[in-house]
Amino acid sequence: KLSNRLQTVANLVKQGARIADIGSDHAYLPVYLAKQQVIDFAIAGEVVPGPHANATHEIKVQAVQDIVSSRLGNGLAVVTPDDRIDTVIIAGMGGTLIADILEKGQAKLLTVTNLVLQPNVGEPRVRQWLMKHHYEITGEQILKEDHHIYEVLAAQKTTQTIRYSEKELLFGPQLLKELPNPIFTEKWQAELKREQQAIQQMKQAQVLPQDRIDHLQQKIRLIKEVLNDEN
Ligand code: SAM
Repeated sequence: KLSNRLQTVANLVKQGARIADIGSDHAYLPVYLAKQQVIDFAIAGEVVPGPHANATHEIKVQAVQDIVSSRLGNGLAVVTPDDRIDTVIIAGMGGTLIADILEKGQAKLLTVTNLVLQPNVGEPRVRQWLMKHHYEITGEQILKEDHHIYEVLAAQKTTQTIRYSEKELLFGPQLLKELPNPIFTEKWQAELKREQQAIQQMKQAQVLPQDRIDHLQQKIRLIKEVLNDEN
């Protein structure tokens, strides 16, 4: 059985997909999807030898070697054209690292129509990358598990130009459509408090980098607006 977080990621993978799960660790996700007969093929990619060994072991124990291939390498370097990967999954890392892996792996994304991404932090960074590279965000989920709030994003390649507003980049275009949502509220109330404290501390320490304060104040304004609209 998967964690809630990984189950939410799994639910966004299409029947018959050929996936690359980058940073797969124990390969729990591709193994689960193979056993559930959701996917036709998977690469479990890992850059660190320890987790790579765990993935290889798990794939063998669960007897899904015919479907899941364990590979050691950095980011999308583990993908070859022969794999005909159509879906890339990157879960459980920061948004900057996720965007970086996608940016460096662009040559491997030519056949990739679907992305499922679960940044632990820095979601706007991921949305920005998607917007810039013509991936439309088609689904977003927010969930709480073990005192953490996670967001999961599904995106699809499009030929159209996508324009997300500052607000959509921050909160998520799909999540904004589905308000009110108690977990969303909880996340942004906590975030609002954090930003307000950050400003307070800067004022107390008498460090007032104006651009940083402007940025925080703009963010606070947007959070208040969204939380107000919600209620
Ligand atoms: N994806 C799994 C999940 O969501 O439960 C595991 C998440 S784990 C916190 C992050 C994994 O990503 C680690 O095993 C780490 O070694 C791997 N990783 C980090 N950077 C990577 C990269 N550039 N390429 C491949 N794997 C990477």
